[in-house]
Amino acid sequence: MSDSARHGNPRPQGSRIDPYFDQYAQRARGMVASEIRALFAVTARPEIVSLAGGSPYVTALPLDVVGDMVGDLVAGQGSVALQYCTAQGDPGLREKICEVMSLEGIKAHPDDVVVTVGSQQALDLITRIFVDPGDVVLAEAPSYVGALGSFAAYQADVVHVQMDDDGLIPEALAETIQRLTSAGRTMKFLYTVPNYQNPAGVTLAAGRRHRILEICRAAGLLVIEDNPYGLLGFDGEPPRALRADDPDGVVYLGTFSKTFAPGVRVGWAAAPSAIRDKLVLAAESAVLCHSSFSQLAVREYLATQPWREQVKAFRELYRQRRDTMLDALSAQMPEGCRWTSPAGGFYVWLRLPDGINSKAMLPRAVSSRVAYVPGTGFYADGSGTDHVRLSYCFPEPDRIREGVRRLAQVIEAEIDLRATFGSVPSLGGPGSDTPGPGDL
Ligand code: PMP
Repeated sequence: MSDSARHGNPRPQGSRIDPYFDQYAQRARGMVASEIRALFAVTARPEIVSLAGGSPYVTALPLDVVGDMVGDLVAGQGSVALQYCTAQGDPGLREKICEVMSLEGIKAHPDDVVVTVGSQQALDLITRIFVDPGDVVLAEAPSYVGALGSFAAYQADVVHVQMDDDGLIPEALAETIQRLTSAGRTMKFLYTVPNYQNPAGVTLAAGRRHRILEICRAAGLLVIEDNPYGLLGFDGEPPRALRADDPDGVVYLGTFSKTFAPGVRVGWAAAPSAIRDKLVLAAESAVLCHSSFSQLAVREYLATQPWREQVKAFRELYRQRRDTMLDALSAQMPEGCRWTSPAGGFYVWLRLPDGINSKAMLPRAVSSRVAYVPGTGFYADGSGTDHVRLSYCFPEPDRIREGVRRLAQVIEAEIDLRATFGSVPSLGGPGSDTPGPGDL
């Protein structure tokens, strides 16, 4: 008899084949692969058009030039690039990061910056230092699936706040804070992706930004501003960062995954000094220090390559793919579908006709050789069955057109099915729809 059975503890969910089944910490029990993960493995097959993946189009980089640069780095600075470094990160890189953030109105000092393993690690560290089990984290509805994964890992209770086409709704935020305060709940921070949001593709309107900051300041609520796509807008200047107007109340998360390459795994957090100190300690216990090699490769790239021109080239490429997807959606989608028109970034958020379930439809879509991420992955509470996230960042324009054509046919078949049999049940329960890393 296992200990948990002897002591009358409730049996954790999981597989009896695993001999350590009863030994895992509470926090590991929510870490289960979803049924749809297996389907995502299939989407790598060439015959399937994947509109699921959020992978940047790295082949647009001058790979031979980057290769030479990396070779020179090892030959010329190998004794530093191949050595340990400090947990806060390379000072030269942190200086460059401040230059990058200045494009969004942020005035930062390299001391404010902590380098992380992509912004995903910054999300993990922030949650680790702030969240006790049961604490509330406020997040947009819908919200980035990787952030929800970090919040779940630390047993946060995610409360979603309504968005519209102009991003987070200030009144909804104020009302949610008020309701949770009255209920005596402990809120730790607001997590927001203000620009070209993942998954909804919407951007927080300039006129709402001050109001959101004011509401959070009045409630003593820290803001986590996650901004991987800010420099990938299709029109005009990059939106002004929230941190530019409240450096004491906002932790800004940035990354080189979308403007350079996700494979280098270099991101950062810019934080008020006390939080920065905790982040450095947390990073040290997690990884000792980050890869010197990656950090110096990014530093060299920023110092020696025309990176602003490259970002412009990425913007043009993604704009063209966005246009292709929007045109194809207008031409092909059946009545009752609605979708967002992103002004930057990678994603379109498609609402399905009433009664159609995106999760139930996915196996049929994959059989029809098209993949997407069901909306349920982007909510902590199992909502989102009426939405899908479509990415246009990776497939070539012809493939985008073909993928949308196939998807439109699948949705039409689903409409017919619903007319004949009523709503079709979904695959499984709430909160278990994590796609694989390439799909985040
Ligand atoms: N935040 C958001 C909103 C994202 O879309 C992503 C990547 N999909 C990340 C964070 C993590 O990116 P990375 O760890 O590669 O910096």
